[in-house]
Amino acid sequence: MRWKGRRKSSNVQDRRGQATGQRQFRMPGRSGGRGRVGGVFAIIAIVVALLLGVDPTQILNLVGGAEAVLPAPPEAPSASRDVGSDEGAQRAAVVLASTEDAWNEVFQGAGSRYRPPQMVLFTDAVDSACGFTSSATGPFYCPGDNQVYLDLGFFRELARMGGSGDFATAYVIAHEVGHHIQNLTGVHDQVRQLRSRIGQAESNALSVRVELQADCYAGIWAFHAARDGDFLETGDLEEGLRAAAAIGDDRLQKMAGRRVQPESFTHGSSEQRQEWFTRGLRSGDFATCDTFN
Ligand SMILES: [Zn+2]
Repeated sequence: MRWKGRRKSSNVQDRRGQATGQRQFRMPGRSGGRGRVGGVFAIIAIVVALLLGVDPTQILNLVGGAEAVLPAPPEAPSASRDVGSDEGAQRAAVVLASTEDAWNEVFQGAGSRYRPPQMVLFTDAVDSACGFTSSATGPFYCPGDNQVYLDLGFFRELARMGGSGDFATAYVIAHEVGHHIQNLTGVHDQVRQLRSRIGQAESNALSVRVELQADCYAGIWAFHAARDGDFLETGDLEEGLRAAAAIGDDRLQKMAGRRVQPESFTHGSSEQRQEWFTRGLRSGDFATCDTFN
């Protein structure tokens, strides 16, 4: 991918290295170095509370009004700062810009206007309208605040699983943007309503359809990117396909040493993920991404 020198999206918030919003214990009435002692004291209070089987916040309140470990409310977009100058962040901003160009065109073609998502870069854990989430969850999209959340460390993990290369990272971002498209088109809401009425197995099957559609939308982005001058290089699309295969449910279950259980799939098999990415890529057409019918 020849991404250097291309437009970078202004919809990126770099929150890396910021406090996660997991509040620190504070002991009112004590200051300076003793505040840190409060942290240890609070941990002891929690251990005691767990031994006694009571809510730790009760004990903490008893011992001096310390605040419990609760996720802070999501940070306002104004909390953003300039995107870091490191390659990972810069490339992510270029890829996001490229998805904006692609979806602008698709929405305009349908006589409507595209409202792009924000992308939040974070490390370790992050607060969002979807709650307090650890990096271990992987990149995710939160429909409640229209934001894509990404810890760039995930791409090291993806490379370890066989999805290396910069186009692989682009595929992941484009997939998350695909979930944003589902939010804009109302698919997200429809699925949420359906989910409340069905059992676990059906709910899993529904998840697979949602995820494969996001893969197909990533393919639509790739279709547009491939037509965008010399942006893509030979081998990029193969990288995308390898990445799609690397995070197929069957592959992940095998890697975890488990039996492959299709009924527990939530994202689709490697083959299905490649297939739907390819459908979007070949057609560039929204209508080919109907995974529900
Ligand atoms: Zn997804």
